[in-house]
Amino acid sequence: MISDLTYQEYLKQKEEEWEALCVRCGACCGAYQDPCKHLEKASNGLYFCSIYSERFGERESLSGKKFQCVHISKILSSNWFGDRFCSYKLNIKMPWLKSIK
Ligand code: SF4
Ligand code: SF4
Repeated sequence: MISDLTYQEYLKQKEEEWEALCVRCGACCGAYQDPCKHLEKASNGLYFCSIYSERFGERESLSGKKFQCVHISKILSSNWFGDRFCSYKLNIKMPWLKSIK
């Protein structure tokens, strides 16, 4: 049971490390083109998703375009406007840079 808990903690730690890589540029959610209706900008200028824990599935942009919101790992091989800011993409190209923050 203890080893299960340790493994769960390990997974949680890895997920937090993964989440921490994001620089909240909002580009993958259309911030520089046609934003998702759930994309919000915080007072510090960084973006966040207003439904983050329930984000996956069909969503709609401000212009009314329907699209599927998926885990970022599923779209890293594709391109989107402003993806040069994406720290996950940079991390794939230059894994020695853990983050550009
Ligand atoms: S629902 Fe998906 S695409 Fe829309 S803001 Fe949230 S994470 Fe981004
Ligand atoms: S493009 Fe990459 S770094 Fe920017 S918000 Fe999306 S996942 Fe985060």
